[in-house]
Amino acid sequence: MIDLHLHSSASDGTDPPAVIAELAEAAGCRAIALTDHDTLAGLPAAAARAAELGIELVRGCEVSCAFSGATTHVLVYFVEGEEGPLHDELARLRQDRVARNRVLAARLAELGVPLTYDEAVAQAAGEESLGRPHFATLLVAKGLATSVADAFDRWLAPGRPAYVPKARVHPAEVAAKARASGAVCALAHPLTLELAEDDLDRAVGQLAEAGFAGLEAYYASYSPAERAALADLAARHDLVATGGSDYHGTIKPGLAVGTGRGDLAVDDQVLERLAARRP
Ligand code: AMP
Ligand code: ZN
Ligand code: FE
Ligand code: FE
Repeated sequence: MIDLHLHSSASDGTDPPAVIAELAEAAGCRAIALTDHDTLAGLPAAAARAAELGIELVRGCEVSCAFSGATTHVLVYFVEGEEGPLHDELARLRQDRVARNRVLAARLAELGVPLTYDEAVAQAAGEESLGRPHFATLLVAKGLATSVADAFDRWLAPGRPAYVPKARVHPAEVAAKARASGAVCALAHPLTLELAEDDLDRAVGQLAEAGFAGLEAYYASYSPAERAALADLAARHDLVATGGSDYHGTIKPGLAVGTGRGDLAVDDQVLERLAARRP
């Protein structure tokens, strides 16, 4: 079993990177990818602990992209080195995240919500790790929402009063920059695009054309039928059907590393197929 979609406190997960490796080993994973949003900062600690535990750590991240008129998340795997065009792009996205978060906090203040930027940062491991889920947690703690999901519905989701967009990059650009660092890309949770079947097919075709290697079919929150349909979609475009839990710790309850909601078990061979696509 493997898990190719995991978040740590380097972004908006609640467990430190080393703990992610421990949870994976305990769950029986042979390999994992740490895929924090727009950052590689958790990788050294996760890799060190994974090595101690005898499991493989794939160096990854999840990049916020704009494509097809919607937010699109792109998973990147096997990132090499400490610098390169991908690293520069991630740094740019993190800078914009900090600026966005400051505007978000100011927006909440305008709306009369008693919440400061510093309080929000205190919820995260650092300024660059801060994301909307941390704001959501704080809104729940202040009794202004009943759950993280409710906080998004009331305040933080697109179209809601405290939504502030942040910079996004085109997936084709991420694919080119990833390639320069020896890495490959996969489309994360494709149903988030909310496209009709033929539109999704066309969009995936464009990504395959742009050099994508995979598509996340075995996503913990998808039904068996959805996973099967996405695996078919991947096969039609000669993409590897990847999978993972999208574990975020307590900020996104009900998901376990490796097993997702209890019915996930991504095959080890998925990682071999993905590795075979490295440039
Ligand atoms: P950010 O990168 O700060 O814009 O936050 C993105 C994070 O918010 C991702 O991890 C999503 O899983 C989470 N998220 C986005 N929309 C929702 C929602 N409606 N309910 C709960 N979490 C959400
Ligand atoms: Zn997240
Ligand atoms: Fe995502
Ligand atoms: Fe994710």
